[in-house]
Amino acid sequence: MTGKEKAAVVIIDLKRFFQADGLSESFSYELDLSGMELGGVKPFCAPVKTSSRLTAFGGSVLLQAETAYTLTMPCDRCFETVSRTFTPCFSHTLVQELSSQEEDGDWILVPDGKLDLDGLLQEDILLDLPVKFLCREDCKGLCPTCGQNLNEGSCGCTQREVDPRLAVLQKLL
Ligand SMILES: [Zn+2]
Ligand SMILES: [Zn+2]
Repeated sequence: MTGKEKAAVVIIDLKRFFQADGLSESFSYELDLSGMELGGVKPFCAPVKTSSRLTAFGGSVLLQAETAYTLTMPCDRCFETVSRTFTPCFSHTLVQELSSQEEDGDWILVPDGKLDLDGLLQEDILLDLPVKFLCREDCKGLCPTCGQNLNEGSCGCTQREVDPRLAVLQKLL
């Protein structure tokens, strides 16, 4: 890290929750992913908004997080840079230790009671990112012949004149 230090990483102390069944608390904060690089661009221009609730039950803690993040990056088809907002929700069950039955479940082990919420939400968001980032679901992309953005109108190239060898490639795209 150079120069400006990142704001303090949010670490949640879960000890109180592991000891008090029924305890529930909500909190909101903004997660800075501006340094995150995806495919050569840094798409998280604005901070990610998060709103989380922790609820203790039966010695474990349920984490429910609502997030809202905006990606600003080129469309995978037409290469126009656009911003799109996504609002996924995540939930995890946090435990201090795993019993043998729990090992293959979706548990998060927090042996020392300290939860790195930044790290967890960052991982959730990265796993949730769209496989294809499109300016809109029906983006028409670029004409393979002249490069015209077909969202802005057709170019007049005859699509039928596609070289058969290219047509095979196009099916793969
Ligand atoms: Zn597009
Ligand atoms: Zn064209």
